[in-house]
Amino acid sequence: MESTTARHLLEPDDGLAAWLAAHGQAAWRAKAIRRWLFAGRVMAFADMTDLPAAVRAELETDFTIWTTSIATHHRADDGTEKLLLELADGHRIECVLLRDGDRRTVCISSQVGCAMGCVFCASGIDGVVRNLTTGEIVEQLLRLARLLPPHERLSHIVVMGMGEPLANLDRLLPALALAQHPEGLGISQRRITISTVGLPPAMDRLTAENPGYHLAVSLHAADDELRTRLVPVNKAIGVEAVMAAADRYWEASGRRLTFEYVLLGEVNDSPEHARRLARLIGGRAALLNVIPYNPVAGMPWKEPTNDARERFIGVLESAGINVQIRRRKGARINAACGQLRRLAARATSDRPPAGHSPVTQAKQPKSSTAASTTPRMPPSHTAQ
Ligand code: SF4
Repeated sequence: MESTTARHLLEPDDGLAAWLAAHGQAAWRAKAIRRWLFAGRVMAFADMTDLPAAVRAELETDFTIWTTSIATHHRADDGTEKLLLELADGHRIECVLLRDGDRRTVCISSQVGCAMGCVFCASGIDGVVRNLTTGEIVEQLLRLARLLPPHERLSHIVVMGMGEPLANLDRLLPALALAQHPEGLGISQRRITISTVGLPPAMDRLTAENPGYHLAVSLHAADDELRTRLVPVNKAIGVEAVMAAADRYWEASGRRLTFEYVLLGEVNDSPEHARRLARLIGGRAALLNVIPYNPVAGMPWKEPTNDARERFIGVLESAGINVQIRRRKGARINAACGQLRRLAARATSDRPPAGHSPVTQAKQPKSSTAASTTPRMPPSHTAQ
């Protein structure tokens, strides 16, 4: 890890333009530096070979590119790769690269830990520690992009790792803007999904400011009693308010909504639960992602049986709901929410386990049991 006292080059207020002017360098050099970072995927100023050597040396002194270091790097047989990143303050976050056909999807974290407290999520167990900075969010993208061979590039982003993205919009939105920028990663906004447990004021802010993202709302239950048990933050919000905010987003964006539903064995997987869910989301241009729970060591929740899952899906499809079931990807690298981080914390025991993150699952065709090769992301919100 490099110095943390220098300015972070991946922060929006890095001061690079002013620094270049003060050092008698042309303004276009800022663009060139970003091109080296985002398209060239270089690690250090020393590798930016079209900059004068003296300038490179001075940049090295005054700026830092990387504030994170890779604590662990896991690869699964299905091509999924997961990084546990250590931040400058010692906290750790997870991010994941998913490969599926031509798609190269990354799942990134937005906070250290999470305050939402979803009972089935390893990331929320210890609450939220802090928001990630814009630079820390961008670093996840760059570190994952560097896992690809030079001829491949990231195609999709899902913000479903550790943390509630809408609780950190001030830092997330500039990071996603950079991801979209032609001089950044050039990823279309339509290929960026923000997942939320459903925070109406923040959803309304996104509706007003920038409704071009794909929004995925994690429900996990269709009634307040059960949802508050599973997603405690629901107590102060209520399903009705979440759905109303989702509808306002849809009206502004015109983009199909996605709802996420983690299927927990013998908790929310009965035909009656499916009927309630169909009544709740029916009539909308929406997709329902059903995610069979991925068991986490030390947590009491069970994976639903195949029969229960099929019955659940059957009820929804009969009601005309567009359903997808996600299969798990990267299971052997602990790609479920917060698992890797917690395991690492246990192993070192000197750092508190915090939030959660990616789960790594893939879309399946509508009919539920057939495995798809289309990855869909991982993590967090959706649980596990
Ligand atoms: S599932 Fe998402 S919103 Fe819920 S505790 Fe985990 S990270 Fe937070």
